[in-house]
This record gives sequence, C-alpha cells and structure tokens, in this order.
Amino acid sequence: MAEETIFSKIVRREIPADVVFQDERVTAFRDINPQRPTHILIIPNKLIPTVNDVREEDEALLGHLFVVAAQVAREQGIAEDGYRLLVNCGRHGHQEVMHLHLHLLGGADCGPMLKRLD
Ligand code: AMP
Repeated sequence: MAEETIFSKIVRREIPADVVFQDERVTAFRDINPQRPTHILIIPNKLIPTVNDVREEDEALLGHLFVVAAQVAREQGIAEDGYRLLVNCGRHGHQEVMHLHLHLLGGADCGPMLKRLD
C-alpha cells in the first residue's frame, strides 16, 4: 500500500491550501511555490503515487483530470493565451511529491519545452 503524502491531507482539508476546485474525484489547488503567475496542481483525490502506478481502471478518472484542467484554465483566464500541462514521474522526471499531479502553468510564456542536454 502506497504511503500518503501531504496532498491527501489537502484533499481531506486537514491542512490549508488555496483550493480552486474540488469534486468527489479531483482537487485543484495553487502550488505553494509558483513557477508562473498561474500555477495550479490538479490531483486525483485517491492516491496514485506516479504515472507508473496508473491502471486501466483509472482511465475515466484521468480523463476527468483533463476536463477539470481545461475548466480551471478557463476560470483563471489563461485558456485563450494557452498554458502548459506537465506531469513529472520518478527520479529522472524530478517528481517530488509521490501523489500523481498535473501542473497547470500559465499567465506568462512557458518557454521551450526542455533545455537541450549538452
Ligand atoms: P513535482 O516535482 O512534480 O512532484 O511537484 C511538486 C509540487 O508540489 C512543487 O511544485 C511544489 O511547490 C508543490 N507543493 C509541495 N507542497 C505543497 C503544498 N503543501 N501546497 C501546494 N503545493 C505544494
């Protein structure tokens, strides 16, 4: 059984967070260390540690994550200019919190996708 992170406590409202959306499947809240003017994390309420732990039964839930991402982007006024959705996984992906999350970044140019490795 995977170990819970601080994000499960945010879902249960046991610790403070700036929650911008929540339903029975998904929670969206502002990143504590924003990398762009709008930086929101969208997470499944149930604990899925990393993308490596995604199962077929999670398909609808993860589809819903994207529906919520698009809705939150519209509500935050960043949809028209565009934004970046990003998911880190594991060591090479620099994932810090082992509760799968979608970063919604916008309100300013997000730059090229990755720096070259050279
Ligand atoms: P990642 O590297 O993809 O695992 O990203 C984890 C993100 O979670 C980072 O951008 C952190 O700033 C953010 N974060 C960590 N703790 C909190 C918290 N308590 N509330 C909001 N965001 C957090």
